Amino acid sequence: MTKNIEAQVLIVGGGPVGLTLATDLAQRGISVIVAETRRRGEPPSVKCNHVSSRTMEIFRRLGVSKAMRESGLPADHANDVSYRTTFTGEELSRIHIPSRASRYTDKSGPDGWWPTAEPPHRINQIYLEPVLFAHAEATQGVTILSRTRIDEFTQDEHGVNAKGVDLESGQEVRVFSQYMIGCDGGRSAVRKAIGAKLSGTDVVGRVQSTYFRAPDLLSRTGNTPAWATFSLNPRRSGNVYAIDGRETFLLHNYLRSDEVEFDSVDRDWAIRTILGVGDDFNYEILSKEDWIGRRLVADKFRDRRVFICGDASHLWVPMAGYGMNAGIADAMNLSWQLAARLNGWAAEGVLAAYEAERQPITEQVSRFAMNHAIALQKEREGVPAGIEAPGPAGEEARRVAGQALYDLNVKQYCCAGLNFGYYYDASPLIAYDGEAAPSYAMDRFTPSTAPGCRTPHFWLADGRSLYDAMGPEYTLLRFDPTADAGPLREAAARRGLPLTVLDAQSDEVPDAYRHALVLSRPDQHVAWRGDRSPDDALALVDRVRGCFTDPNHHE
Ligand SMILES: Cc1cc2nc3c(=O)[nH]c(=O)nc-3n(C[C@H](O)[C@H](O)[C@H](O)COP(=O)(O)OP(=O)(O)OC[C@H]3O[C@@H](n4cnc5c(N)ncnc54)[C@H](O)[C@@H]3O)c2cc1C
Repeated sequence: MTKNIEAQVLIVGGGPVGLTLATDLAQRGISVIVAETRRRGEPPSVKCNHVSSRTMEIFRRLGVSKAMRESGLPADHANDVSYRTTFTGEELSRIHIPSRASRYTDKSGPDGWWPTAEPPHRINQIYLEPVLFAHAEATQGVTILSRTRIDEFTQDEHGVNAKGVDLESGQEVRVFSQYMIGCDGGRSAVRKAIGAKLSGTDVVGRVQSTYFRAPDLLSRTGNTPAWATFSLNPRRSGNVYAIDGRETFLLHNYLRSDEVEFDSVDRDWAIRTILGVGDDFNYEILSKEDWIGRRLVADKFRDRRVFICGDASHLWVPMAGYGMNAGIADAMNLSWQLAARLNGWAAEGVLAAYEAERQPITEQVSRFAMNHAIALQKEREGVPAGIEAPGPAGEEARRVAGQALYDLNVKQYCCAGLNFGYYYDASPLIAYDGEAAPSYAMDRFTPSTAPGCRTPHFWLADGRSLYDAMGPEYTLLRFDPTADAGPLREAAARRGLPLTVLDAQSDEVPDAYRHALVLSRPDQHVAWRGDRSPDDALALVDRVRGCFTDPNHHE
């Protein structure tokens, strides 16, 4: 017997990207099926350790940021990044990132100034995914088919017919949907099926990763623990992430560029050298993985009714914690556009925006990550021989190395630009006005309302976050109460486009807001700005809902 089911959207893969996409779509009123080969709530392997501020902003909108922040490391565990000669050796420098207990009060670190209601959060993916899974599963409109693998699909003008199997019972499963999204990870079968090709750099670096339990490790340091501890010495450099904050750790041993075979490096020797411990030290391997860091981006993100999202569409070295976080940004972008189309207020053209907007950003982030990985490789391979020497010469070598490591890495661990600086500069949905968005770097950005930029965040006079006060879809921010929002409101009503008008009262309005009216999209990017409603408000509304191909034809 075949099991036949139907939903507006089928998501293949219930990793962090698929689950975020499913929850957001469902909250916008769309029925979603998620097919996932893993068992219900089964955690993934130990991978991502950093949830970016931008992702936390998305989680806040979905209603899961509080639960997420309450999970992971113990509340008072340092979130710092420490650079040392070995894990148990001398500290060279430390990037201060507040623990989650003091995340909202301690502004002293390099990311303390960030203009957001949701600072970043350090948590491993093994804790993150069950929280996200529980939230998605409890969201009305989401059906998760655990232990279900999608094997093939066809599409036509009516929808997508996907076929798979229930891995427990062996029963055939058929799903009919309007759209299908491949969130099926780096080996994505959906990507291959739509004919998308990955291109870029095949090998940026090789890494031996080991997840281990060592109850005695922390007592050997005598120092304040850190979230990430990098070891730099001439024998073997690597880094260690605190996973439970007590006895479990994830260690990455970055192979040198001349070490092209994983087996050429003794794993146990490398672990002991990075930790700075002898043969008397006991640890238990929980899992291990050898992986190649790449920089690959798909040449297309869509074939008609089928899209790819997250690792399915891009893969790179997870520098700056921007593997999962970039995928969640993809999901946020695709979600509102797809929901708008399915809910009937956007035209078919809205679906062209996802690839036009996300592919250039993905390309950019992949290069930031690769360049950073290469710079770090140079640091590891150029460690001064005397870095562990006693006396003034050793101290000077440690001081110089510590400063260089701080300066290089504060950019990736406090990457304001990657969080808030990216903008969409070639989108069919955005009404550009001639002012270019400010350029940004991994660690720097300038808040701006140039169309395409992230809507700058501030706190409203009544204490609410701007983002909490904005509507679920488009929001017209009004900074001058006399500015006439009427024509835009009427045009939106004529086309059925959901528009909230918000009088943005605050003493803290950032200088970036220079116009009386700013139209913010459902994903908190600026679509248009002006001092009064445009002369042809209907044309603007049509543009932002994807009806731009034929001005005389309104879908
Ligand atoms: C060692 C390491 C460290 C990392 N550190 C970071 C970090 O610090 N920060 C960061 O942002 N990222 C990091 N990443 C990257 C991050 O883990 C990935 O980017 C993230 O998991 C991608 O999420 P995803 O949902 O796109 O894909 P995945 O997490 O791969 O999820 C895909 C899901 O699809 C399911 N699936 C596949 N095929 C099918 C099918 N046919 N039918 C049904 N289900 C299917 C799989 O079971 C899987 O659950 C790291 C990665 C590695 C390897």
